[in-house]
Amino acid sequence: MATYKTIYKCRECGATSYQRVIDRTESGTLEPTGQYRCTGCRNVFANVQAWCEPRRTIDSQPSPLSA
Ligand SMILES: [Zn+2]
Repeated sequence: MATYKTIYKCRECGATSYQRVIDRTESGTLEPTGQYRCTGCRNVFANVQAWCEPRRTIDSQPSPLSA
């Protein structure tokens, strides 16, 4: 199973990689569910955004309120 290295890290445990969750479909094949599992704490997240915690670059991020 592929492991994705990212510049992000798990907000729960600090691990820097995750795996795609593979599950069996109704047709019997194994396919990605679209979810992600942290390689550290093994928690499953709906998407990468829910898993990761961007590095501290608050100064460079535009405020949603100013858009
Ligand atoms: Zn984790």
